Amino acid sequence: MSDTTIQRVTVLGATGSIGMSTLDVIARHPDRFEAFALTAQDSVDRMAELCIRFLPRFAVMVNPAAAVRLRERLQGAGVNTCVLDGADALIEVARHEQADAVMAAIVGAAGLAPALAAARAGKRVLLANKEALVLSGALFMEAVAESGAQLLPIDSEHNAVFQALPHDFRRNADERGIRRILLTASGGPFRERSAESLANVTPDEACAHPNWVMGRKISVDSATMMNKGLEVIEAHWLFGLPAERIDVVVHPQSVIHSMVEYADGSVLAQLGNPDMRTPIAHAMAYPDRIDAGVRSLDLFEIARLTFERPDFERFPCLGLAYQALREGGAAAAVLNAANEEAVAAFLDGRLGFRGIADVISATLERAHGLSVDSLEAIIEADARARDMACTEILARSTSR
Ligand code: NAD
Ligand code: MG
Repeated sequence: MSDTTIQRVTVLGATGSIGMSTLDVIARHPDRFEAFALTAQDSVDRMAELCIRFLPRFAVMVNPAAAVRLRERLQGAGVNTCVLDGADALIEVARHEQADAVMAAIVGAAGLAPALAAARAGKRVLLANKEALVLSGALFMEAVAESGAQLLPIDSEHNAVFQALPHDFRRNADERGIRRILLTASGGPFRERSAESLANVTPDEACAHPNWVMGRKISVDSATMMNKGLEVIEAHWLFGLPAERIDVVVHPQSVIHSMVEYADGSVLAQLGNPDMRTPIAHAMAYPDRIDAGVRSLDLFEIARLTFERPDFERFPCLGLAYQALREGGAAAAVLNAANEEAVAAFLDGRLGFRGIADVISATLERAHGLSVDSLEAIIEADARARDMACTEILARSTSR
């Protein structure tokens, strides 16, 4: 490698599934990347191991008690990483002048403020946290345009679309001949289950994804297909196409990560093994290509690629997301907040699987007049929608 300088990377959500894959890519290329700051909610053991291995300048534990324990552990190990605590410290390390790139891999709305801070500070933003964009699409894209930040999608589908688009796609989709985006979906663990049998599925069944190993929240989202719904909204903001030009194709093998169809009938796809290190390495090294530790795609072993239409009846969350995108305003933020609360309730046994879509639908009906014009307004809308969703969850848990 020639004149590349080392990129200092802040990894928000370093202890999670995407965070760990990011650190794996960083470790493979010490001549290109350095872990500048690592953050987590409260997993001290894993964070201590990461700090000892990567020697970052900063480590943030959102939970202050966890920060105290981490400081003790690092002192004992002779590591002089500076340990910060609290949610404000996430923002500090995301916009720190010495950070070049920021991996936004916190799960849920909690990741919005630091991701937005990185965008406002003009960083190379590696965006895994789709909920941030669903909540704040217009505001986030404005921040990117104003600061000149480089926004690179990590979500495998969006990374695939990005790879299949011309480099100047933001100019005008029609002028570039872009007809539509085809987002592929694995269909999740319940693709072949009947509607009735979905009533009694357990959190562990929902989290057993056939192709990807992920955090529990996104695993449940894959099982309800809300993950694909959030991704439709994410694609709208990233690539500027309306809902009618973003289609979902169920593709159980997860080998085609998504496609772009052009006016001349060409359809460009990005293929690969389902391993998040591919989109992570692509975005981190862009426009270069580097080894991600991912094995070669063996098409003979896969043999068949199949496609199905999504079933909006068994998986109503997908339709709710399209509805929220078409409605505009605060609807997507409400959808996201209600989904986060409903998924948390499902994961700890307070709500049935099919109750997730019911709670979201009821919350969307009730929430009106909320604004998403500023970060403060979004935080307020998110909190109001969560309150309404919690009332809906309570009503269903008492009647179960
Ligand atoms: P995960 O649950 O494995 O990890 C989440 C990380 O966020 C952890 O480091 C955790 O400590 C931190 N965190 C959790 N709550 C927090 C809070 N309130 N404040 C600060 N930090 C907090 O999740 P994941 O699977 O790595 O997913 C991360 C994000 O990436 C999600 O938005 C998900 O939708 C997206 N994503 C994940 C995958 C995947 O394959 N895992 C693929 C595409 C997109
Ligand atoms: Mg995805």
